[in-house]
Amino acid sequence: MFSKITGRFTEDKDTKEIKRLRETLEEADVIVIGAGAGLSTSAGFTYAGERFRAHFADFAAKYGFADMYSGGFFPYDTLEEYWAYWSRYIYINRYMDAPKSVYEKLLELVRDKDYFVITTNVDHCFQKAGFDKKRLFYTQGDYGLFQCSEPCCQETYDNEEIISEMLQQQKDMRIPTELIPHCPHCGKPMTMNLRADDTFVQDEGWHRAAERYENFLRTRDGLKTLYLELGVGYNTPGIIKYPFWQMTLKNYRSTYACLNYGQAECPNEIRSQAICINSDIGEALERI
Ligand SMILES: [Zn+2]
Repeated sequence: MFSKITGRFTEDKDTKEIKRLRETLEEADVIVIGAGAGLSTSAGFTYAGERFRAHFADFAAKYGFADMYSGGFFPYDTLEEYWAYWSRYIYINRYMDAPKSVYEKLLELVRDKDYFVITTNVDHCFQKAGFDKKRLFYTQGDYGLFQCSEPCCQETYDNEEIISEMLQQQKDMRIPTELIPHCPHCGKPMTMNLRADDTFVQDEGWHRAAERYENFLRTRDGLKTLYLELGVGYNTPGIIKYPFWQMTLKNYRSTYACLNYGQAECPNEIRSQAICINSDIGEALERI
């Protein structure tokens, strides 16, 4: 259905598009925000460079990692070392605040609107910025939750306390053995509640959020809606991007806005209903 893609804009066109987005935001009855990794990148959650070196210099020296992702995928020999790495990773990407206030700026723009957020981000930035928890659907998990690695049950566990212990007590890139987290039901090692394969646990909270999102869409059907897509790439386009295109096509009163540094585009079928802004998301939101 969506064959041709258009919309790589230049600086001047961006200015016009930002004006259109401002007007659309003001006039919209409903705003559905879809957020991907690019939004957190814009907020300063970068996984290489200075931020990586500041927290992982020892791992970089031992294994030659150049960014946080490589270290996260590495098959460590021991769980002590694995958790030394992951506790730092979770702490700085989940419990520390984002360096820039992009999420706060976004909230300012939609606070008084009837909005809902669907996101593939697992860094908790929406909640930290003060978005209404009942208007959020985290589809891919949360760095702040553990689950059984088997998994033997559909439960998740807050990890803030244990992560902080691991962080404080690690030495020479190892945590003390007694801090390795195990499932309280079956005793198997715990893992992060992140969707990587079919072992991802969808707990009660996940199902409730999924239901709220579906209800929100159903009860606002046909209204003047802005589908605001922020930093969504093509890793999992079936979660946000493609449904946003389809819902826009179905509702002639709706607008699809795509803010994406380098990949702001839309299919020709919805061109007349689309706003594409190819710049840093934080900067674009500031200009609205
Ligand atoms: Zn278990």
